[in-house]
Amino acid sequence: MTIQDSPYALVASSQGPKAKVDSASTSPQQVENAYTMALRQFDGAAPFLNLKAGIVDMLKRCKRELTVTFPVKMDDGSVKIFTGYRVHHNTARGPSKGGIRYSPQVDLDEVRALAMWMTWKCAVVNIPYGGAKGGVICNPRELSLHELEGLTRRYATEIAPIIGPDRDIPAPDMGTNPQIMAWIMDTYSMHHGYSVPAVVTGKPVNIGGSAGRLEATGRGVMFTVQEAFKTFGWQLAGAEIVVQGFGNVGSITAQTAHQMGCKVVAVSDIDGAIYNPTGINIPKLQQYVKEFRTVVGFSEAEQITNDELLALPCDVLVPAATENQLTRVTAPRVRARKLVAEGANGPTTPEADAILNDMGLIVIPDILCNAGGVVVSYFEWVQDMQQLFWEEDAVTEQLRRIMVRSFHDVHNRAKELNTSLRNAALVLGIGRVAEATMTRGLYP
Ligand code: NAD
Repeated sequence: MTIQDSPYALVASSQGPKAKVDSASTSPQQVENAYTMALRQFDGAAPFLNLKAGIVDMLKRCKRELTVTFPVKMDDGSVKIFTGYRVHHNTARGPSKGGIRYSPQVDLDEVRALAMWMTWKCAVVNIPYGGAKGGVICNPRELSLHELEGLTRRYATEIAPIIGPDRDIPAPDMGTNPQIMAWIMDTYSMHHGYSVPAVVTGKPVNIGGSAGRLEATGRGVMFTVQEAFKTFGWQLAGAEIVVQGFGNVGSITAQTAHQMGCKVVAVSDIDGAIYNPTGINIPKLQQYVKEFRTVVGFSEAEQITNDELLALPCDVLVPAATENQLTRVTAPRVRARKLVAEGANGPTTPEADAILNDMGLIVIPDILCNAGGVVVSYFEWVQDMQQLFWEEDAVTEQLRRIMVRSFHDVHNRAKELNTSLRNAALVLGIGRVAEATMTRGLYP
């Protein structure tokens, strides 16, 4: 049994081998260091805030970084050594929060960048968390379920000193899923001698997960897109959507878009892309993917490349795979007419951002657009702490309320400052973290 066979594998593929460097749309030369990218974004927004030099220096660095190297017994009896990370970027506004990524390409700088983006994201949607992220260098597609469990339990033990419900609360990210969160929760609980469900979010519902968490990020993406359409006076019904990546975020974004009456004309995963100008039947595709673990080969669509997908005419392009997809090379080819809605973290390089802006395209930035996941993770943590669980409708309604409010907070700030939604979101997020830091004061 592999992770894809696990009952919690919603859809097919996790990030496959060499995804970042071998992907059709991204050559190694184009790949930008994610941390450098996060720092450049910070430098672009900081001048709007007039921050003291000491605060700037502090916010650009991660508070705590743990690298662990640990052995795992493989199915053939051999022992393999793995490396993992857990990074806390900032905890001024509360315990840190952020996903765990299993990927062959993950490294410390990528985890630092993702942790920093989590800090700004939690502040943009105004939930009481700081930012963190974790990762293990591995290819989950190549591990058996048994090996994956061993790796997860040992990694959880190694990072246990710095996680906890009041300290740092992990969640799923690329290559991880609810089953993996269940193993982390169980391992942590065994060490404590009692169940600690609030140590992770994104768990299965039967052990304290929240209804609607699995769907939260994709739903949140479409709630922001819907609000943008409303705000700009466009019609969402019939709008053409292209989604890159068909994992947790991409598949639920496509499903929600479909339910909202949009036409999802193309989707992709690490293995390739499919296109149907009359609209793909998303529920049927989800069934297909459950069986075949890829969108490739779906009979009701034409096969195209990932490069071609990014250049398709559409109303909304949703990069929902990984970083560095819209670059100075791929961005000029984008033919989206209205929006780029960032389902993934860091899909657009700063150069590509400038190009898309010059093309008149509105980019809904990751730290706003994909914040639905952490918003419902926050609801899950609250429910676990209170041992009082909500119906899915209540979760989704509260999610919608926060996404809509946050969209307008960012949009209003963008109008005030005459800047992009990305800069406005960063200004809002960084500003809130800086304020909290000043209010707390300097210890000792
Ligand atoms: P996932 O592992 O469930 O799915 C990733 C998908 O992207 C897979 O279909 C994979 O095949 C595809 N993919 C990978 N590289 C690709 C490439 N180069 N071209 C095309 N497709 C490619 O991961 P996920 O949880 O859906 O996360 C996707 C992105 O969303 C990541 O950037 C992640 O950090 C971000 N994100 C996830 C969540 C969450 O709740 N899961 C929340 C916020 C942000």
